[in-house]
Amino acid sequence: MLKFSFFLAFGLFSLLATAQVCPILPTPAVYQPTNGQFVCSGTLLIDPSEITPDLKAAFTDYALWANNIQVSPFVQNPMVQFKKLTNVKQDSYSINIADRITISYSSEASCFYAWVSLLQLSTQQDGQLSFPKCFVKDYPEFQWRGLHLDVSRHFFTVNEVKRFIDLMAYYKFNTLHWHLTDDQGWRIEIKKYPLLTQVGAWRDSTVENHYTTQPRTYNKTRYGGFYTQEEVKDIVNYAGARFINVVPEIEMPGHARAALAAYPQYSCTGQAQGVEGLWGIFDDIFCAKEESILFLQDVLKEVLPLFPGAYIHVGGDEAPKTRWKECPNCQAVIKANGLHDEHELQSYFIGRMDAFLTQNGKKLIGWDEILEGGLSPNATVMSWRGYEGGKAAAAQGHYVVMCPGSHCYFDHYQGRGADEPLAIGGYTPLDRVYEFNPIPSDMDVASAAYVLGAQGNLWTEYIPDMAQLEYMTYPRAIALSTALWSETKLPYDQFLSTLVQFHFSFLNNQKVNFSKAALKPEIKTMRGKNGGIEIQKVPAKGLDKQPEVLNNISPAKKKTKVVGLKIEQGSGIAPKQLEVIQHKALGAQIVFQTPPSPKYDNGSLTIVDGQLGARPWKGNEWLGFESDSVSFDIVFDKPIKVKEIRIHTLHDPNSWIWAAQTYNIALNKFGCGNGIADGYSTSETIEITVKDKNVKQIHVNIYGISKIPSGQPGAGNTPWLFLDEIEIR
Ligand SMILES: [Zn+2]
Repeated sequence: MLKFSFFLAFGLFSLLATAQVCPILPTPAVYQPTNGQFVCSGTLLIDPSEITPDLKAAFTDYALWANNIQVSPFVQNPMVQFKKLTNVKQDSYSINIADRITISYSSEASCFYAWVSLLQLSTQQDGQLSFPKCFVKDYPEFQWRGLHLDVSRHFFTVNEVKRFIDLMAYYKFNTLHWHLTDDQGWRIEIKKYPLLTQVGAWRDSTVENHYTTQPRTYNKTRYGGFYTQEEVKDIVNYAGARFINVVPEIEMPGHARAALAAYPQYSCTGQAQGVEGLWGIFDDIFCAKEESILFLQDVLKEVLPLFPGAYIHVGGDEAPKTRWKECPNCQAVIKANGLHDEHELQSYFIGRMDAFLTQNGKKLIGWDEILEGGLSPNATVMSWRGYEGGKAAAAQGHYVVMCPGSHCYFDHYQGRGADEPLAIGGYTPLDRVYEFNPIPSDMDVASAAYVLGAQGNLWTEYIPDMAQLEYMTYPRAIALSTALWSETKLPYDQFLSTLVQFHFSFLNNQKVNFSKAALKPEIKTMRGKNGGIEIQKVPAKGLDKQPEVLNNISPAKKKTKVVGLKIEQGSGIAPKQLEVIQHKALGAQIVFQTPPSPKYDNGSLTIVDGQLGARPWKGNEWLGFESDSVSFDIVFDKPIKVKEIRIHTLHDPNSWIWAAQTYNIALNKFGCGNGIADGYSTSETIEITVKDKNVKQIHVNIYGISKIPSGQPGAGNTPWLFLDEIEIR
């Protein structure tokens, strides 16, 4: 009944002939419903003679956990029979439900996938278990279907990791990338180096709020935890029984502050520092000297036997070269090996690990920075800074796992509502994850063959506990698994209705704290038909509903106005009211001479919509320019009187965004910069006083700095200019 009541509660989808809709996600290659139901009372009787005892045990445990279904062996007259096939597509399976259920499979993993699909087909009512009569044929498109879990920034217990694995298995993921070490905590027992966990697993404080919030405050509670090698084996076995391979990540040479807190002699300076309590990138990394390399190889010697899979992740990302440049030991390694610079030194460092892992029968995988300075011969690349790293690696004949931030970073926001919990930034809603293709459209066929698949990344700086982890993971992980498993995806609206109709009840039964942001309407501001702005309630993507106009606000010289939005009770939309800065340019036309970057172009209305951009910025509500100067005109419908101009820019050096410094304004001279006011601003908001009437146009030039100063994140690059409201009074 739960399925049905959910369906009504949302009231979003028309009642289709339920039997015709395939409830399985990720969507199988073939689903052919026939008439009727296969019904049995309570226990599902299986013939285990064609499966291994391990599979039988896994099936029994998993059916009970996932759908509260009892399974018993009964060879004489079973309801479910298994048939092992040879010479069929890798990991393919089929299910035939008629007067009996027949599962045909090619590999043990595929038999488990078939089992999961069967569970997803089941419904229970009044002690009766039923399945729609149908034929399913299915196989995965990509072989690497992963989720990444960072247990360093926040620690998750053995049981929490197992629950994470159980949920992954229900959506046919097969890879858990376990991020075990970072600046804020070392989480795996290494017997030869006990201080790694005695010291490195514990930090004295943790930064509160967003790390850009000023002034910074810290929670002074000691925080940490780690897994013993026995616990690691337990988790790896548990995952293995659900056909999930665990890929451990031991970060090097960067993100090493926890390890260096325990063993400072393996840094460049040798200076003792605590385990870091702030998020970010830190200058102190492993030194590239021989002792440090041997130390890390010793660590790997203990890690390798715990993980039966082929891949070992060695990180390689975000390693500033500040210390290496000044370190005599690092410089000596550069000289002795005929290297040109510190990027080649990182390549050398990773190369040593590659050789070590290859020697030990393992494969190295690392973040796309391992391309810089030359890619090590056997390395697989995990492309996170967009698709570029993956494309470059594939073109060189290396295997690739895609996880571009645009689609695969589940630590980003998934809704625009002010009620979304604090996240690191960025915006990756459900529909964007669903449209993801690990093979970018401009990749040639030869390169595409090197793309193993993709994964969703859960960095946990802003994910302090299991409830928040599940909120960020689901339902986005289901969209991702569909993008990776299903060769042919349903249109997004059909995916959404299948998700709501059949899977929200599963997630509810499992008490998963999943997000419903993908169903919430958004409050959007549009240009009004008669000038000014119009505030609309726009239904979520994929729902068959029309936008509704809530308010009209005309340009005026008044200041802030709080606008109550006409929203029905209990709709869960936030905010219930908006603060609109009423000014004379509200809804005015904007003509850009410098176009915003397509990455941060939310439309020109953004800067005259009466609303200030959010902080910390979420990758939206601002216009971003990849340029050190920006020029545009504000054009009015009829001439106005102008006394004051306020231009809001953003200053967030951690994100390479620097506020504008100088400006130049002209009135009624379209596209021309020699005007009535120019000057220098020391704050994010530029305030200009003028006095003129009959103004039809205002031309604005603003200038930032051309290079990020040294010592700052992104030093030497051109910073971004971010612009929001231009208030005219
Ligand atoms: Zn060094």
